[in-house]
Amino acid sequence: MGIRRVKTIVALCAVALLVALVAYRVAKRPARSEVEYWDWLSMGTLAELQTRDHSIAKAEAQIMKDAFTEVEDALSVFRDGSDLSRLVADGTIRVSSTSHLARVLGFALKVADESGGAFDPTVAPLMKAWGFRGGTISAPPSATTISNILANSVGWQRVEVAYGGDGRTVFASGGTRLDLGGIAKGYAIDLAYERLKDFGGENFLINLGGNIRVSGTNGRGSGGWTVAIRDPFGVTGNWQHLPRQLRSGEAVATSGSYERFIEIGGKRYSHIIDPRTGMPVDNELASVTVIAPTAMESDAYSTTLFVLGEEDGRRFIDGKDGCEAVFVGKNPLGTDALRRVEALCALGPRNAMTPGAKTAAKWIADELAAMGLEPEIDDFDEPATDGSARIFRNVLATIKGTGSGRVLLLSHYDTKSGISDDFVGANDGGSSTGLLLALAKHLVASPVSPSVTFAFLDGEECVRSYGEHDGLHGSRHLARKLRDEGVALDAVILLDMVGDRDLTLTLPRNGDARLKGLFLLAAADVGRRQSVRLLPYEMTDDHQPFIDAGYKAIDIIDFEYGSLPELNDYWHTPSDTPDKLSAESLQAVGDIVLKMIDGR
Ligand code: ADP
Ligand code: MG
Repeated sequence: MGIRRVKTIVALCAVALLVALVAYRVAKRPARSEVEYWDWLSMGTLAELQTRDHSIAKAEAQIMKDAFTEVEDALSVFRDGSDLSRLVADGTIRVSSTSHLARVLGFALKVADESGGAFDPTVAPLMKAWGFRGGTISAPPSATTISNILANSVGWQRVEVAYGGDGRTVFASGGTRLDLGGIAKGYAIDLAYERLKDFGGENFLINLGGNIRVSGTNGRGSGGWTVAIRDPFGVTGNWQHLPRQLRSGEAVATSGSYERFIEIGGKRYSHIIDPRTGMPVDNELASVTVIAPTAMESDAYSTTLFVLGEEDGRRFIDGKDGCEAVFVGKNPLGTDALRRVEALCALGPRNAMTPGAKTAAKWIADELAAMGLEPEIDDFDEPATDGSARIFRNVLATIKGTGSGRVLLLSHYDTKSGISDDFVGANDGGSSTGLLLALAKHLVASPVSPSVTFAFLDGEECVRSYGEHDGLHGSRHLARKLRDEGVALDAVILLDMVGDRDLTLTLPRNGDARLKGLFLLAAADVGRRQSVRLLPYEMTDDHQPFIDAGYKAIDIIDFEYGSLPELNDYWHTPSDTPDKLSAESLQAVGDIVLKMIDGR
């Protein structure tokens, strides 16, 4: 495909979807500062130029394209006669020390050494074994195959480098094949960058498959370029801004498993392989973004950090001048929720009408206040039948929406009495409380159209049996209050027991049909449709008082919480502890709720 200037908004959207990184832009700008867009395909991916150097824009695009072609000609393993192919075929090559091969391979070996082999250009035989170099494989390579490859072919120390006095470098491949896919695009960006600067380019951003380097400014803000990285989960379709603008000359790259992967037997495998184990990377990370002084560094380091994981990765990058990393975990919402569930459980039992419940209510309010919200603790007295006072506390907070409407999210936080002295209700009361707090935190940062009111309800659990004076105290109080105040709500969504590792969402029959429909669509969207069961019976839960008050309500509950599928034997037993929960399940329910709210 030739170079083309992108004219339409539709084409721009395609660009945004195709690359992991994109310059953030607004639609309308004064003409002088307007950014011009060009894009084409290079090195098997999308290349893009954004420039404000209008008089030389076309020439810049051509220079960039030529630079990429040159790098591909030198470094592609798919191209016979490229320096890299010759090195692999002949086992040795003698090249100028300033050649593309010498520069890229030299740096790749340095990063390999510094990272203890987390980054390793000799990963090629593993890429092939895992089916990333053509052909289809029906099963992952066997442990024997992998250990043979590791023993005989992988290891950067196999590549020998000798520097000739004549300014030439001799490489010997040591019988292994090389793959520069984790670094070549960055190098190509640097080459193009230098040539554009030499040509007189001033204000531009160049992008090759998400490897970006900028010069000058996009004419907005305080100089530099504002860049956003794509939310790897696409839950809300958000772009997440880098922590700061890119300064002139800086580069950024992202490595992750969400865009390029292979599917074997229905399981996805990352295209980044840990050369120390021979296995595709499967750690806690969804992606890593690295800002660095050059694109070769950001490209190599982002791949390296993805292999190393956050802890070792931070240690590695902290020692690198001018480098910064942004780690994105796989289940950010679920992980945050789980952390909060654990913290809540650590406070001890929260039985209604005990000091434990009061402590929990204060803790919830403090968490909400720490997010910048203004929580309200609504205490109310519901006298017992003998007239003695019984104080309950609901905790409430609202996040204003960007549009109209209002949604109410509910969770009870109290624990069931009479089970054991240390019963903490990790799933029952804990999971939904933790998830609601994590959702609040998320929505503070990225609000949705409707306003969202969070209600943490007290006294859900009954002491003897559910009835007018036992159980559902918080929800009956709130539903009555909202109805009396004439508050309109588009939806009331109750979460209850939503953290079980083995997530089955059992929707009771009492619930609004349209909300159930929305729920099913959202569950399908996040790949959890098969974990949903529509129950043929009703359940007494905190959503019922809202239905009684005329609101549209739904109860999202997993009432199969047990040692085996379909059993519920952890419920209301001392076995209901945080270790039964997972960040994945909490994430899934959180994603479903966000989709339901957003797509009302
Ligand atoms: P992308 O190519 O999607 O921009 P990366 O820059 O992270 O992503 O590079 C991934 C590529 O790097 C893989 O497709 C492969 O060619 C190569 N590679 C995979 N694992 C490693 C590794 N551990 N060290 C060096 N290169 C790797
Ligand atoms: Mg890379």
